[in-house]
Order: sequence, then C-alpha cells, then structure tokens
Amino acid sequence: MELTYSCRKCGAIDRVASIENASTLTCPGCGETRPVHTAAFQENGLHACAACGTEDLYIQKDFPQGLGIAIVVVGFIISSVFWYYERPLWTYAILLSSALLDMVLFYRVPNVTICYRCLAQHRGVGANPADASGAPLYKPFDLAIGERYRHERLRIEELRERERAKENKAS
Ligand SMILES: [Zn+2]
Ligand SMILES: [Zn+2]
Repeated sequence: MELTYSCRKCGAIDRVASIENASTLTCPGCGETRPVHTAAFQENGLHACAACGTEDLYIQKDFPQGLGIAIVVVGFIISSVFWYYERPLWTYAILLSSALLDMVLFYRVPNVTICYRCLAQHRGVGANPADASGAPLYKPFDLAIGERYRHERLRIEELRERERAKENKAS
C-alpha cells in the first residue's frame, strides 16, 4: 500500500511506497519524523489512517477532479464546431462519446482511501477491506463527518496562529 501525506509542521508532501513495511515517516522538507501507525494494518487491510491513526476514512475515485470536466468541455467544444457546420449527427456522436468516455474512466479508475483528519491518501491492495458483513469498510465522503474534521483543522490552525503571534511578541 502506498501512503501520501503532508507534514504536520511544514506542509511538505511525501510519498511512501510500501507503508506496511515502514516504521517512521520522515519529512523531505523539514526532516521531522513521526511513527507510522502500524496498528492501522490488520490482516485484511487498512483499519485506520497510517499517518495519524484516525479510524474515519473515506473513499474517492483516484482521478484528477478536473479531468472529468475537461473531457465533457472538450467534447462540447468539438461538437459545437460540427453544429456550426450543420452536421447534427456528428454533433450528437461526439457529445455521446465524450459522456461514454467519462463513464468508462469513472468505473475503471481505482479508489483512493483518504483520512478525514489529516487527508493522508492510501492507495493499493487492502486500502478498502471488507467489514464484518462483507461490504467495503469505507464509504464515499460524508459531509457531516467531513465538516466535523474541517472545524477541527480550523481550530488547530487558529491555535497555531496564536502561538506564533505570542512567539513574535516575545522575541
Ligand atoms: Zn516538514
Ligand atoms: Zn490521518
């Protein structure tokens, strides 16, 4: 399984190829180290975030979000050219095929498992194991849970700002 996370201290992004075999995360930007939550890996796969240990994770298509929109937009532009030259059949064919391409890509692209708390991304086999009933353990993004963690992040950021202000005053 591959882990992509951002450093808590400096925000640098790092990627670790087989996170199951790693014991520490070392930031490529500032060198800060922290332990991998090895308890996150259980027999059938990932049960918590490997970077912070949070059990609330969600899945998302591992697909650059702009790409799907770009395909539709490009399809639309090309089809309008055909429309301009009064080729309605081509217009519809292109619109339809860009929609189809979007759908095929959507179903073929694998999921990425993301931590609600630290937004670390987990990719690969075992990133979304089955729960006791055999259903996938992680579900798509839930706004209510997401909001809770977003507020938490904002509060932490606020505290950091205050600490920084205090340090500046002291020096
Ligand atoms: Zn760092
Ligand atoms: Zn996390």
